[in-house]
Amino acid sequence: MFIGHFAVGLAAKRLTPTVSLAVWFLAAQWLDTVWPVLILAGVEHVRIAPQANPFLRLVFIDYPISHSLAGAVAWGLLFAGGWALLMGRRGAAPLLFLGVVSHWVLDVVAHTPDVPVLPRGPYLGFGLWNSPAWTIAVETTMFAAGIAVYARTKRPRASLWALLAVLFALYLGSIFGPPPPNVTALGVTALAGIAVILPWAWWADRG
Ligand SMILES: [Zn+2]
Repeated sequence: MFIGHFAVGLAAKRLTPTVSLAVWFLAAQWLDTVWPVLILAGVEHVRIAPQANPFLRLVFIDYPISHSLAGAVAWGLLFAGGWALLMGRRGAAPLLFLGVVSHWVLDVVAHTPDVPVLPRGPYLGFGLWNSPAWTIAVETTMFAAGIAVYARTKRPRASLWALLAVLFALYLGSIFGPPPPNVTALGVTALAGIAVILPWAWWADRG
């Protein structure tokens, strides 16, 4: 799942209007921020299957640290605790914890049964990705709903609309574009995306 995670961040902003959208995007995508670092380091492993349907082109051989439920809970505690320490306030920490763990829940819905509960299994995955049409329908609906909820908290600036358009274009590009040429390119692109999206989200949501 891709824009579905950003939808969670957009909607969550309504619950905690003083927390930057950038923080919420990072929380909802935290597992996918750790993951490219770990695949580039060779700690976790993914294989590219160019012939599969666009949502099944990544074969997740193992990702026990970034994507097990045990890992997600630990990352959630670290993320929420780190935020509370850094900001000197605690109010939103439990929600940020849930935001990090929400990534795991949504991935279980989308992935085939390769998402570990404990680092070495059992593995869950309801396989929404088996149907590209349903995946696009569900994620696009979530994204639109997330934007609508955000808009009830504050009117989206033009810079935010631009970011949302870019996110949606990246989503379409990942579906209709070519598969990543190799794992290094995949990891580097994922990190570069985050490095652009987060400051942009902070800037578009500031004040
Ligand atoms: Zn993920």
